[in-house]
Amino acid sequence: QLLKGEQVRRQMHNRIQELRGNIRVFVRTRPFLPGDQQTSDSSIEVSPDGESLSIADKRNGSPHDFRFDKVFPPSAGQDQVFSEVSDFVQSALDGYNVCLFSYGQTGSGKTHTMQGSGNGAMRGIIPRAVEQILDQARTSRAQNWEFKMSASFLEIYNEELKDLLSSMKQKVSNQSNNAKLAIKRSKEGRSFVDGLTEVAIETEDSDAGMRQLEALMAVAARARSVASTKMNAQSSRSHSVFMLHLRGYNKDNGAIMEGTLNLCDLAGSERLDRSGAATDAKRLRETQAINKSLSCLGDVFTALSQRSSHIPYRNSKLTYLLQDCLSGDGKAMMFVNLSPTRLSSGESLCSLRFATRVNSVELGKAKKHIQYNSRK
Ligand code: ADP
Ligand code: MG
Repeated sequence: QLLKGEQVRRQMHNRIQELRGNIRVFVRTRPFLPGDQQTSDSSIEVSPDGESLSIADKRNGSPHDFRFDKVFPPSAGQDQVFSEVSDFVQSALDGYNVCLFSYGQTGSGKTHTMQGSGNGAMRGIIPRAVEQILDQARTSRAQNWEFKMSASFLEIYNEELKDLLSSMKQKVSNQSNNAKLAIKRSKEGRSFVDGLTEVAIETEDSDAGMRQLEALMAVAARARSVASTKMNAQSSRSHSVFMLHLRGYNKDNGAIMEGTLNLCDLAGSERLDRSGAATDAKRLRETQAINKSLSCLGDVFTALSQRSSHIPYRNSKLTYLLQDCLSGDGKAMMFVNLSPTRLSSGESLCSLRFATRVNSVELGKAKKHIQYNSRK
């Protein structure tokens, strides 16, 4: 009995060790925009090697230095950002549970990074990831692999889940579309959302697949609950999670590969006062729910980095939902989005400190190299 306990503990330890190597933090500073109160004089300086940055303290101007896996300067375009992400997307095709987060204050570029806009150069990670998977599905057909893909899109608002694609579901019964969604664990120990709409995306014809994606993004945009705050009329007070379920089947040897890619646009991380958001009870409740789930996410990363034997996944819907990506051989990547203005430097510093809980490398130490072990 004791031996078994020790074995389990050791196994757990190894898996957490492995996961630590599979968490990456990228920082992206957006450029100045016409709406910013200042239009130059950034509080943030990115090092030429793209791995560290310096931010000036608002009060005394003294610099704070940070080093991360990657730091993108304001000039970095959507294509450059995606080229650093495509390995992660590939991991989902290789059978891993993969999650990307975008974290930062409202207006810092989270949605721009994840979703982007239009269907050209400004497209973000979601359409580029789907495109990459469709390309890959086409080339692997030559090796007799057949890939199926389906998408779900949900929102977590005030610790409640909302299906953003429920209007696309064919009604099979008179069950209400608004029935409360619950996160459950499958027999295999995987998290899933009971009753969540899954829309199949055509993998035989890439153009058709991309059109389906556009259509479902439009449906989700309509379904999202957005409330205006002083900072950003489109400010999102909820987390959104775009999920791709991938399943490959090899017609030669019957091998099956299953992976998921979760793209998570987190609610604004700003503290209460600046947005003036807490003037009524509803806003206050929202902000408390956001703070709670973001701090739960931080707690999970801290527990992982301290190799704690208890990881508090169950403390928030977000971490419980994404538990498979945050444990075992899951892979997680956090984008920390920053605004360059001096007015935002206090929030930026908070975001960077949050990020160091996720994954920090002390300045002056060798950069670690992470190798992907492709699963066969
Ligand atoms: P968030 O989702 O964090 O609230 P958004 O992604 O909506 O922020 O970005 C706020 C505004 O800044 C949007 O108009 C967006 O198009 C613009 N923006 C953000 N990042 C960039 C960037 N890297 N390049 C150009 N415009 C950007
Ligand atoms: Mg947004």
